[in-house]
Formats: sequence, C-alpha cells, structure tokens
Amino acid sequence: MTDSNLFDLLERFSSLTRVWFRQHPLLAELQPIQLSALMYLARCNNYSNTPQAVTEYLGLTKGTVSQSLKALEGKGLIVKTQDARDKRSVHLYLTDAARSVLDGSLPPAFLALGESRMGEHAGQLVTLLGELLTEVQRSADLPSFGLCSTCRFHEVVGGSPFCGLTREQLVPGDAALICREHQPLMPHGPAPRDKVA
Ligand code: SF4
Repeated sequence: MTDSNLFDLLERFSSLTRVWFRQHPLLAELQPIQLSALMYLARCNNYSNTPQAVTEYLGLTKGTVSQSLKALEGKGLIVKTQDARDKRSVHLYLTDAARSVLDGSLPPAFLALGESRMGEHAGQLVTLLGELLTEVQRSADLPSFGLCSTCRFHEVVGGSPFCGLTREQLVPGDAALICREHQPLMPHGPAPRDKVA
C-alpha cells in the first residue's frame, strides 16, 4: 500500500467520525475541540490533566484551548482543582455529566461494528496502527502521550504500578491511562520493571 492509500483511508475514517460526532444527539452542544479535550481528559493520568498538557496534546494555541476549557467548565462538564503542592498549577477533572456523555457516545457505533466483524484481525490492526503512530512520533520528535503500562519508567512495586520518573506510587487504574511524560521502551530494551517492595 502506498502512503497515499493509507492517507486516503485515514481521511475517510476521520470524515466518518466527524459526521458521527456531529449527528449524535448527546454531542450536539459540543464543538469538536471541546469534545477532543473531554476525550483526552477521560484518558489521561494526573500528571497530564493540566491546561498546558491539553494544549500540547491537541496541538492548538493556548488561547483556543483556554476558551474551550472555559466553555466546558460553564457547561458543567469539567471542574478545576488546585494542585496540592503547586498552588499555581490546576488539574482538570471530568464531571459525572461528562462521563455520561462520553460513555453514551463512544466509541462510534460504526467503528465498533466494523471491529467486531473483523474478529481477531481487529486486534492486529490496532497493534499495527500503534506501531505506525510510534514511528511517526519518533521521527518527528513528538511527545508520545502513550499508555503508562508501556512506558520505560513504568515499574510494579509491591503489586502496584510505580512511576520510576517521579518516584511516586500510582493507583492500579493509572497503568491504562495516557501520560504526557511517557517515554517509549527502547526498541530492544528491557520490558517494564517488576520490583518487590
Ligand atoms: S511511568 Fe511513564 S507513563 Fe507512567 S506516570 Fe511515569 S512517566 Fe508517566
């Protein structure tokens, strides 16, 4: 497959997704940027739920993201909480209303149906697309925003996830979240470390 074919496929999926979002009754009040910010905040860990991290992830200007976050706050879909250690920093959390919106609309039904029809090939496709994304991010020197469990700093201490970068214990669900500090494993490096407390 040539790059053009791959791009055409991705663009078609992107177009179908935009239509799905635009037509879904639960998403009618949300602009695309606001929805993207909500989806990111639903997937990221506590190191990554700041306005700055949302801006980096979406690749938009600080002003645009700031306006969108204010709108989400006004709609009662996110709340801001001051960082316990750094009073200048805030964390953004989804409200129950936001979680209901996302749970009721994602993933898009057309995609879930297509995946189920593909059977085991769907898993292979996800793996291959993940590899493609890693290559793109590596070659463009972009932050990976990858899954904590796949980070080279990820450890397991006393049966619980532990961040070797911040030296902080994580809660079990954190391993399945994405992180702005994520660093991919070296191509032939060791697997994430298991330690005994
Ligand atoms: S282990 Fe990596 S991905 Fe997980 S919290 Fe630490 S830096 Fe982030």
